[in-house]
Parts: sequence; structure tokens; C-alpha cells
Amino acid sequence: MSKLPKPDELLSEVKLHDMPSKHWMDLKPEFRPGCYLYAVEPQVMEELGRPHLGKWQPTDEKWPLPENWKEIVREAIKKRLERNRAFKLFMDICVRCGACADKCHFFLGTGDPKNMPVLRAELIRSIIKGEFSTFGKLFGRLSGGRPLTEDVIKEWFIYFYQCTECRRCSVFCPYGIDTAEVTIMMREILHELGIALNWAMKPLRNSHFVGNHLGLQPHTIKENIDFLLSDIEQITGIQVEVPINRKGAEVLFVTPSADFFAEPGIYTFMGYVLLFHHIGLDYTISTYASEGGNFGFFNTLEFAKKLHAKIYEEAKRLKVKWILGGECGHMWRVWHQYHNTWFGPFDYLEVPKSPITGTVFEHAKENKIVHICEFTADLIAHGKLKLDPSRNDHLIVTFHDSCNTSRAMGIFEEPRFIIKNVCNNFVEMPENTIREKTFCCGSGSGLNADEFMEIRMRGG
Ligand code: SF4
Ligand code: SF4
Repeated sequence: MSKLPKPDELLSEVKLHDMPSKHWMDLKPEFRPGCYLYAVEPQVMEELGRPHLGKWQPTDEKWPLPENWKEIVREAIKKRLERNRAFKLFMDICVRCGACADKCHFFLGTGDPKNMPVLRAELIRSIIKGEFSTFGKLFGRLSGGRPLTEDVIKEWFIYFYQCTECRRCSVFCPYGIDTAEVTIMMREILHELGIALNWAMKPLRNSHFVGNHLGLQPHTIKENIDFLLSDIEQITGIQVEVPINRKGAEVLFVTPSADFFAEPGIYTFMGYVLLFHHIGLDYTISTYASEGGNFGFFNTLEFAKKLHAKIYEEAKRLKVKWILGGECGHMWRVWHQYHNTWFGPFDYLEVPKSPITGTVFEHAKENKIVHICEFTADLIAHGKLKLDPSRNDHLIVTFHDSCNTSRAMGIFEEPRFIIKNVCNNFVEMPENTIREKTFCCGSGSGLNADEFMEIRMRGG
């Protein structure tokens, strides 16, 4: 890992109001340690049947792009402009009002104008103008257009992987332009050239071939859960059983595989199973649908769809009534924003109803899945959990809304309701940093690699 600047050094370098020395089109892409991500290993792409550039790194002077790379990129842009209405609309309607400019954590943390959402989208808009419009071809920069060059590809690699797809900018855009959707399209276009991140592709490969990001085989999941259950028994004296792959259970519980395996997820997992044991929930987890997270979503929507499909196939096979989901931001983003379009309607499942309180989760009647916070808040609201908030009187607690569950799902009240029921000293952060205006942690959308730590710290 490269040397990380101290917090005051990170901030002192940021000049948000200085005019850049050059026009943005003349600024060359620069790869500094700590500020770029490593390229995918060719073997990973080969195993998944994807194009690749062989062994290379972003710092290489000359990138080994395929001979017909311009043709590939033009075709990839054209295809997306024809098929993806949101992408086409977002390319057309921006009025450059600048309302989004200072809303991105990566701009605030780096001062780099290309991290302003408006300019991030301009990195592709200018190419669409320069390559596809006669006006743009004739008048070039005067029209806002520019030609496709190898430096443009390098620039895309930097800035579409310095966007965490958090959608904060879209909250402030009067037209609702969602730069995250632009980033998703641009990562797909880079993928068509064989350009992708090692950190984001390896978990995808594991999930594709084994069923979860960590590559845990069914027996490993079972053994890990047994370890966690023996820890619970040692600490609390309570013997908990976790049903695995049990047909006919009422509820399928799905969570990211990290919850079975690594800190801090294992503590969350122990909390989940203690809760289910306490209320006597009729549930099962699955070693086939052993991953709620979806690294496909950070690469291409095609992979995202493929990885997501197994959860509903497993719900059908196990004949459960509905699905309960653990915590993982992008898992919920995929569930709430994409999967009904990809796979719905899920007629073989029932509208979720809590067997403990009788609450029918009407808002989940389409996709038949309930968030663990909704489920738990409902238990508390019905007096099904005996809680003593004074046990946490030594703590002053705040809450950082997750980008995905807040902006993509509107889950604002449930976590606050739970926290206020388990502690007496809850304080909110400033109004412009919470609920739908929450800031990204700086590591979302597959950017949580060690080699990227400086940008993560600047953004987070
Ligand atoms: S989606 Fe988030 S990271 Fe991307 S440009 Fe908008 S605010 Fe920045
Ligand atoms: S707020 Fe919307 S319309 Fe205004 S510059 Fe940003 S993306 Fe364009």
C-alpha cells in the first residue's frame, strides 16, 4: 500500500475554488500511487469468457488496447444510446447549471474538477458529440466535442472508477440526472475493451463459479457457522441452531457471504441468528444462495443479473413464502431498483407477513423481500423484544445512512427507531449529511481496495 497522507495533509491540498491551470480537455490523465486501482488479471477474464488486455497496469505508458478499439468503443456507445433510455436522456438534458458540482464527496476531497458530477458525465458527453454529431465533428471543442483518443480511455478508467455510484448528486439535480447510471454504462463500455478492476472482478468470478464472493464451499459455510454458534454458546450460554438448505421453511434469509466468514460481518451474523432464535422464526439460510452482495453490479448489468438470479431460484426450490435480507447496501440497490424488471413478477412467493406480529409488509408485495431493519423495527413496535436502553448509557451514538438503503429504498426511520430503543444518547449529524443527503463512505461500488486508500480517505 502506498504512503497515506495524514488527515490535515489530505485537506490542505484541496483547492475547491481555484481555477484550473488548463482547459479540462488539455489535462492529461495521471496515475498516482494510492489514487488508481489495479487492472484485472487476464486469467480471471478468460475464465469468465470476457475480452482482456493480457498483463498490463494503468501506469503503463502504452495500454495494449485491441487494434480495433475505437470501433469497439463507438459500437458500445451506440448500442447503449439506443437501448438505455436513461443514459440517452442523461446525455441530452444536462443544462450545466452546476447544482451538482460540489455535491460529490470525491470532488470535495480532491478538488479535481473532473470529479464534479457534471464534468464526470461530460467525459463521455464530449465524445458522443465529437464522434457522433456532425456539428461536433465540424466545430470540435467549440461545440463541446472532442475526438476519441487513448488518453480519453485512461481518463475514463480514472474517473468512472472514482465514482462510487452513490447517487448523492442526483438528489440535487433539478432534472434528476443520475450520474451513477452514467458510470454503470461507462464501466460496461470499458469492459468491452477488456478493462476492469482486479478487486471487483475476483469476487465476481468466485460468485459466478462457487456461489459467493469469498468462494466458500457449502461445507465451509456450515463449519464457519458452527464456530460462530459455539462462540455464542460460550458467551451467552444459549444454544442456537441455524437451519441450512431446509425445504419448506417460511422464510429464506439471505446476507452477504462476508457475514459467515470475516469481521465485522460475523458479529452481525451472530446478532441475526440470536434474534431469530429468540423469536422462534421458521427460516433457513442457503449454501446455494449464499451471497446477497453482487459484484457483478460494479462491472456490468449482465453479470449483476446472472449473479442475482440464484436467490429467487433458490427461494422457489426451497418453497419458502418470502425472503428476509440482511445488511448490504448494494444488495438492496439491486433488489429494489433492478430485479423486478429483470425477473418479476415473483408469483411463487407470498406477500411478506411477519409470523410474529402479523404485520403485512405491503410495500414488499412486488419483490417479496423485507429488510432486516424493517423486520426488527416492527418487532420492537409490537413489544416483542424486551430492551433496556440504559445498558448503553455510556455511549453517545449517531447514525450514518447507507447510500443505497437511504437513497434507493427510503429506509430512514427504521434504523433510527431501533437505535433510539436500544440507547438513550442518540445525536443526528448535520442535516446536509443524513437521510437522502447522506455522504458515501468513499469505498462503495467495488472501490474498497487497499491500493486505492488515498482516494478512499479523501472521499470518505
Ligand atoms: S454518484 Fe456519487 S460518486 Fe458518482 S458523481 Fe454522483 S456524488 Fe459523485
Ligand atoms: S445539476 Fe443536473 S442539470 Fe445541473 S449540471 Fe448537474 S447534472 Fe447537469
